[in-house]
Amino acid sequence: VKFVYDFTEGNKELKDLLGGKGANLAEMTNLGLPVPPGFTITTEACKTYLDSGDEPAALRDEVSAHLDALEAKMAKKLGQADDPLLVSVRSGAKFSMPGMMDTVLNIGLSDTSVQGLAKQAGDDRFAWDSYRRLIQMFGKTVLGVDGELFEDALEAAKQAKKVVVDTDLEAADLKKLVTKFKKIVKTEAGRDFPQDPREQMDLAIHAVFDSWNTERAKLYRRQERIPHDLGTAVNVCSMVFGNLGPDSGTGVAFTRDPASGHQGVYGDYLQNAQGEDVVAGIRNTVPLADLERIDKKSYDQLMQIMETLENHYKDLCDIEFTIERGQLWMLQTRVGKRTAGAAFRIATQLVDQGLIDEAEALQRVNGAQLAQLMFPRFDDSVAVGGKVTRIGRGIAASPGAAVGKAVFDSYTAVKWSRSGEKVILVRRETNPDDLDGMIAAEGILTSRGGKTSHAAVVARGMGKTCVCGAEELEVDTKRRRMTVTGGHVVEEGDVISIDGSNGKVYLGEVPVVPSPVVEYFEGRMHAGADDADELVEAVHRIMAFADRKRRLRVRANADNAEDALRARRFGAQGIGLCRTEHMFLGDRRELVERLILADTDAEREESLKELLPLQKQDFVQLFEAMDGLPVTVRLLDPPLHEFLPDITELSVRVALAEARQDPHENELRLLQAVHRLHEQNPMLGLRGVRLGLVIPGLFTMQVRAIAEAAAERKNAKGDPRAEIMIPLVGTVQELEIVRDEAEQVIAEVREHTGVDLKLALGTMIELPRAALTAGQIAEAAEFFSFGTNDLTQTVWGFSRDDVEASFFTAYLEKGIFGVSPFETIDRDGVGSLVKSAVKAGRETRPDLKLGVCGEHGGDPESVHFFHEVGLDYVSCSPFRIPVARLEAGRAAS
Ligand code: ADP
Ligand code: MG
Ligand code: MG
Repeated sequence: VKFVYDFTEGNKELKDLLGGKGANLAEMTNLGLPVPPGFTITTEACKTYLDSGDEPAALRDEVSAHLDALEAKMAKKLGQADDPLLVSVRSGAKFSMPGMMDTVLNIGLSDTSVQGLAKQAGDDRFAWDSYRRLIQMFGKTVLGVDGELFEDALEAAKQAKKVVVDTDLEAADLKKLVTKFKKIVKTEAGRDFPQDPREQMDLAIHAVFDSWNTERAKLYRRQERIPHDLGTAVNVCSMVFGNLGPDSGTGVAFTRDPASGHQGVYGDYLQNAQGEDVVAGIRNTVPLADLERIDKKSYDQLMQIMETLENHYKDLCDIEFTIERGQLWMLQTRVGKRTAGAAFRIATQLVDQGLIDEAEALQRVNGAQLAQLMFPRFDDSVAVGGKVTRIGRGIAASPGAAVGKAVFDSYTAVKWSRSGEKVILVRRETNPDDLDGMIAAEGILTSRGGKTSHAAVVARGMGKTCVCGAEELEVDTKRRRMTVTGGHVVEEGDVISIDGSNGKVYLGEVPVVPSPVVEYFEGRMHAGADDADELVEAVHRIMAFADRKRRLRVRANADNAEDALRARRFGAQGIGLCRTEHMFLGDRRELVERLILADTDAEREESLKELLPLQKQDFVQLFEAMDGLPVTVRLLDPPLHEFLPDITELSVRVALAEARQDPHENELRLLQAVHRLHEQNPMLGLRGVRLGLVIPGLFTMQVRAIAEAAAERKNAKGDPRAEIMIPLVGTVQELEIVRDEAEQVIAEVREHTGVDLKLALGTMIELPRAALTAGQIAEAAEFFSFGTNDLTQTVWGFSRDDVEASFFTAYLEKGIFGVSPFETIDRDGVGSLVKSAVKAGRETRPDLKLGVCGEHGGDPESVHFFHEVGLDYVSCSPFRIPVARLEAGRAAS
């Protein structure tokens, strides 16, 4: 294998091997742009070095050969005494990790060659400035000396001279500083600053390799989901100098505005400076447009090059350049980072310019960006201060900006929000009991738990702002307050603001502006209108591209007419999952209790009869909202005890009543029932189809309600398209029994209403056994909906409600998985079961309809997987629908 590539040998496709920087330096070289000559050491060499602790045996010779060639080209030798070739040794991984890894400039300077450089340049000051920079950077990054020591010494030198900026230090001052710097190195690193240029270079190369594994680099990769095993390439690039006087300088530029996408002149320039000065903010830069006045020739050339780059990369590029005595040099380019909004705008602008087509435009944006654009945001123009105090920072779990009164339990959240208050639900952690409160709240704040905690996962699903794990906050639910390390106390009713995009928590109200993109999806803002937002225009067009391309249909998980209508506005093509659980809560709880407690068939039938019209009404509304589109209704799924009071609470109530000798007949019966139904492991207990088989009349009541509702809609000239879905089936026999009963009920309804009803009957595939016997199950099912939440639980043996809070963080840190399998489908495990079940199901029944419901249906990566395995639709929460549409379009293009 070859470990070193000259800049003339690489190209932009070789990012895996040469890193982004190296690949693009090569690309620019081959485009004929002025790039200082150099070579790139591959990521493979880095990986070997990091794995074995030593560089590959062949590397040294290969580097020597390339260095020889470079020296020949430049007609001087590295560190040559009378006229030294100097190089930079620069990190550069496949994905840019800004400022995370190391770069050393001016390699090759020594006590002797500094004199040669001074003579060649005719500038003593410049030479000593370059030398002190080398010792400083080398000392810090290669020898591990605390950088502040150098900065303090530099500061002291400036103070001694009573000057403010570096450029006011003269050669003699810098020379003294070099002596000082070398002393610092000697004391701190226990060795002399190396005078041998090749030793400098080799040590710098190793330091760049090592910088792949610094803590901050690792942390950055975890956050950005960059794999840890890519390694970095190392670029050795001959130096050009921006610090040679006022006709020299260095700058950064964008080919268009990364915030708006607008074309124009965007960048910063700094005269008489070396590259790192621009970012360090030591001196004030001038806007790039000023370069036209400073150096017209270089400016024009730069504009020309930027155009070349945009046309070549067909995208926004950012660049680093240096001007050495009127000569322009390109030091870096890459397709530039941009805000989510700019990504949409740029993609459509490039289509209009004819640079890319619609399919390519879809690759330039993604669902995560779209989701970001849909959240309301804090008005940045309002400074924090005065009435607003920042009181903490947690994990940015679900983006958006929310303001409301702090409440510390779900009951209060619901009560206050009903009376029109905006509230933020504050909990240590949330659990499924908090669902009502979470729905009622503007946002959710917890002091415990990470990105995969209950609060985070649920909030993301609902599109609700959430900050979790804000550990400075001590939440005291009982006293309805939280205290903040440092003193503040937030009482129930105090207004707080939380920013789910950066995790910041404020006491006080930060003003919020709604997202124009949501206004658009809600139909309150129209593309094409005179005053339409540019962003909305771009989103509108990209969504049209996606809808034209995609094969997957997108449905919503919605349980009521209100959600269904919103989902429709957002583009839902039906409901993929209507849960019926909520229809058994609230005022109906009492009826359900009676059903569960029934001792006789008569009693049971009585309560079922009372539930029937209520259920039917729910469905009538839903079918009306989704008229003409399929609605998949799932029969009751959760274990019965969820509809009964909490066992401890109830025991206390009974005990108290006993003590007071109050009558407590009913409570006692209830408690017995709770005991009877108590399960060690309810997730694997009496739920789903098992309930339907054990509680006579329960499922048939639901089927009857669905059928009667459909009949009523038909009589009202509607077009109901109900699909009945049986949950938690493990074997075809379960399904057959329920199906036969259901068909009988449907026939009865057909009979007595005289309406010709067609209701599809299908099942969820959410147990491994169901997936493994999908071929048999398809005999009795007209459709499958993969319940990938439960399937993930049961395939991994993870209890979703427990593991995310307990050990997932450790798993993520250890790299066992890069992302929670509840968030993104586990392709290898759960995914392969889905794949084989799709195949087996379709073999039995070629027209089997296939979908997925649950968290994964709205997750970008997972949507791509579902497209690949050939599902017909994904179903997700209403707020995720645009994201799913976009990703389905991207998957198909
Ligand atoms: P980063 O990835 O942190 O931007 P770079 O390797 O790009 O690090 O280098 C840091 C700075 O040094 C940049 O401003 C770059 O332009 C400048 N630089 C790097 N190599 C050279 C060189 N050969 N000549 C002049 N300046 C250079
Ligand atoms: Mg750079
Ligand atoms: Mg399930």
